[in-house]
Amino acid sequence: MSTETPLDLKKTVNLPKTAFSQKANLAQSEPARLKKWTEMGLYEMILRSRAGSEKFILHDGPPYANADIHIGTALNKVLKDIVVKSRTMMGYDAPYVPGYDCHGLPIEQYVEKDLDKKGKKKSDLSVVSFRRACREHAAKSLKNQTRDFQRLGILGEWNHPYLTMSNHYEAETARLFGRFLERGYVYKGARPVYWCIHDQTALAEAEVEYHQHTSPSVYVKFPLASDPALIDEKLAGRKVFLLIWTTTPWTLPANLGIAVHPDFEYAAFENGDEVYIVASELVGAVASKCDIGERDENGDRIAPTVIARFPGSRLDRLECRHAWIDRPSLVMVGEHVTLGGEADAETELDVKEARDPRTTGKAGTGLVHTAPGHGHDDFVIGKKYGLEIYCPVDNAGRFTSEVEHFVGERVFEANPKIVEFMRAQGVLLFSEDYEHRYPHCWRCKNPVIFRATPQWFISMDASATSSDALIEKDEDGRDRSNFTDNFSESDDTASPDSLRAGALREIENVEWIPAWGEDRMRNMLKGRPDWCVSRQRVWGVPIPVFYCNACNEPVAEPAIVNHIADIFEKEAADAWYAREAKELLPEGYKCRKCDSAEWTKETDILDVWFDSGSSSVAVLERRENLRWPADVYLEGGDQYRGWFNSSLMIGLAAHDRAPFKAVLTHGWVVDGQGKAMHKTGGNAVSPNDVIKESGAEILRLWCASSDYHEDMRCSSEILQRVSDGYRKLRNTARFALGNLDGFDPARDSVSEEEMLEIDRWALSELDAVIEKVRAGYEAYEFHTVYHALYNFSTVTLSARYFDITKDRLYTAAPKNHARRSAQTALYRIADALARLLAPLMVFTADEIWENLPQASGDERLASVHLAELPQARGERDMEMASRWEKIFAVRDMVLRVLEEARIAKVIGSSLEARVNLSASGQTYNLLENYLNDLRYIFIVSQVNLSRAEEGGATENSGVEIKVERAAGEKCERCWNYSERVGESSRYPTVCERCVQALDEIERGEAG
Ligand SMILES: [Zn+2]
Ligand SMILES: [Zn+2]
Ligand SMILES: [Zn+2]
Repeated sequence: MSTETPLDLKKTVNLPKTAFSQKANLAQSEPARLKKWTEMGLYEMILRSRAGSEKFILHDGPPYANADIHIGTALNKVLKDIVVKSRTMMGYDAPYVPGYDCHGLPIEQYVEKDLDKKGKKKSDLSVVSFRRACREHAAKSLKNQTRDFQRLGILGEWNHPYLTMSNHYEAETARLFGRFLERGYVYKGARPVYWCIHDQTALAEAEVEYHQHTSPSVYVKFPLASDPALIDEKLAGRKVFLLIWTTTPWTLPANLGIAVHPDFEYAAFENGDEVYIVASELVGAVASKCDIGERDENGDRIAPTVIARFPGSRLDRLECRHAWIDRPSLVMVGEHVTLGGEADAETELDVKEARDPRTTGKAGTGLVHTAPGHGHDDFVIGKKYGLEIYCPVDNAGRFTSEVEHFVGERVFEANPKIVEFMRAQGVLLFSEDYEHRYPHCWRCKNPVIFRATPQWFISMDASATSSDALIEKDEDGRDRSNFTDNFSESDDTASPDSLRAGALREIENVEWIPAWGEDRMRNMLKGRPDWCVSRQRVWGVPIPVFYCNACNEPVAEPAIVNHIADIFEKEAADAWYAREAKELLPEGYKCRKCDSAEWTKETDILDVWFDSGSSSVAVLERRENLRWPADVYLEGGDQYRGWFNSSLMIGLAAHDRAPFKAVLTHGWVVDGQGKAMHKTGGNAVSPNDVIKESGAEILRLWCASSDYHEDMRCSSEILQRVSDGYRKLRNTARFALGNLDGFDPARDSVSEEEMLEIDRWALSELDAVIEKVRAGYEAYEFHTVYHALYNFSTVTLSARYFDITKDRLYTAAPKNHARRSAQTALYRIADALARLLAPLMVFTADEIWENLPQASGDERLASVHLAELPQARGERDMEMASRWEKIFAVRDMVLRVLEEARIAKVIGSSLEARVNLSASGQTYNLLENYLNDLRYIFIVSQVNLSRAEEGGATENSGVEIKVERAAGEKCERCWNYSERVGESSRYPTVCERCVQALDEIERGEAG
């Protein structure tokens, strides 16, 4: 024993020591860490470290480069980052190339407004200058978004993102249009499409949103011009009318027909000297609505007299007169006619409404007013019966000079005037306000109309022409007509190699997460009309087609398109506007029909969804480190209609396959009450505000902790709870790191067999959580990952393992075997926690990693993001696990009794207690085996165990627990009570355990 002066007791306690601070100061520490990552080239290091490994490609859906990021975009990008980081840590080579959607209407509108502020108009600028202004605005927006995304800790090729407005991308987009031409899917035709009369452009399916809207609902009578005896002899000589119902009176001037179902029964009933025809089933409903028929003495309506019943097919091709215009209205039969029941399912309703806003199906007569220029079904049946696609409404939604009485009126303002006009004419039976879901423009929020204009379409049902056949055709110089309305709809004519058939086939080969995504997509595909890809705008990729000035023959050829695309590649698509037609076409190119060489350029541009849908080819296929198809697309649920859909079409055109193997969707971000967030509603959470106040890590943890398959709630209270969770995780890591000061994993680790059992138990629990977390990442179930790690940290570690090992870690001699055993476990736990948390808590996990002790002779990886997820060490010892579960069950009971004793002031701290246990049978045997450990497990100074008679105590599962004050005195060093305090003359204030520890320390910690 040393003869020197006794040690200062306080200094012999191993208090935790670590540079990993308790306070995170994320708002300050995150930017510093990001700077470090940039300087060390972390993203490039990660890619180098995975070079040659199997690839995993998450393909980024490009956010629109207009506004700042909002909570929804932040969520989307964070989820993607979690996918990429977790796959990287599974060992995959998972590059992340972010993209931006740069063309389109919102940017044009922004630039127009900006010009307006400067007192200028769009027409003051050349198209090229206007496009330059659009390009600059998009570039500025995407720069800001990039800064914000990087601030979220998202790693990727931020210096080299893909932009739909880059020369290369514009060229690829044009080439893909050429690919659709080549396959015979493209045609130009006048077909009804969504049209915004405010923005004066056609809209894509994905560009309309449904809101409640009040329309006038009207019942109108059309006089039958054909001989009524053709229907039924009983009608001979009568004044017969067909009754129609509509909620868009403004489409009545364009009425050219009335559709009935061939198999429904129709009835003719009397109203005074007139006879009305409606579906049999609806006679009562219509009569009551239109107040038709006599009343009895009680004032109840007497059902009108039906004089004939007949199938709808009997009305086929009869002729009516228009209700007030001097022209015929043809009666047609069609399967699309309904009796006005409620639509079956929400999604089906969506599909139906997506096709035709007038098909609301909640009222009606069973006879459908048909205006082929203003509705999808109307168009289809009108085409079949050879009707004109008549659309007397101009770009601004005003009636043209053809519409007598209403010339120049805007359609929505004309509605009430038409109703009054019909009333005056005596053709209106009834009108009322009618509330229904109606499509609105996503940009200006105004109701849209369906309007036929000459547009470019991609046919959903046309048969693919093999590219060889088409080239042959070209060489023969034969007339090509595939782009001039090769319209074919209806299921029976759908070709097995059409886009629709291909898409329906391909979605079965895709993994949809959640699984209902497949049905959602199937419904979208079944119902979607041909894709209108032309827009009457300038900020986009021009449709590379020419028209002969002499004979109007269009030039729409893949070879010419590729020639033009090569020019775009060098000069951007601006070349279309900067150059003359002749300078865009190959030299000396002549019209194949009339030999003329004077051309006019198409003025329409491609739908922006065609742009973004092209990304799989333009990016995945063209970038060296990526590959086609992608492993996963991950976007909000609105993209079934949007990007998933257009990407699928382009994948089919390019390779006859879906461009994705799996599609994940996430819900919307809503406020704490589950309501939609609005900038003006005061309930929106700004990601940049959260970052400034709490740090990006809190936002990331919120993304991870919520189930993203559903709508995700976010509010300051919810974020506060997330912050509390973060603090607990941080404290868990801090405890482990603090007790590893001076521990060299290579030199000081204890082998598994020599470890204390509770330390082995902790490692076994760690294995269980590793398995759970790996499975969670694998299945993209990040909230299970978070909750598994949170429970492991707060319950298994903080409340149990750390609580119990604290005494050993603090008071044993630093190099003592028992302490080294605990440290070995702590080291493995901290190392694993850093890795498991890394995809979620990118900043803090890296900070934990940095503060882990270095193993001598082994250079730790420069960042946790270079490391791999830990692996469980094989089979768990389930017998040990179940033993400890029983011990912890007893411990929980003991802690409750201790708490009662504390409240009763029998004891203060638990170390002042002695616990007397009495148990029988198996429980006694188990406890007896752990007798020497029990005082540490319960964190008391003494434990007595006695055998109870079988069936004795029934409370507390057969264990009787009594608490009394511990015997002896309090040890100054470890605060445990012992009757042996004072035995040592050198250290008279400490217990026998501490005497031994001090002895070990004084001997220079030999061994
Ligand atoms: Zn609009
Ligand atoms: Zn010509
Ligand atoms: Zn002691």
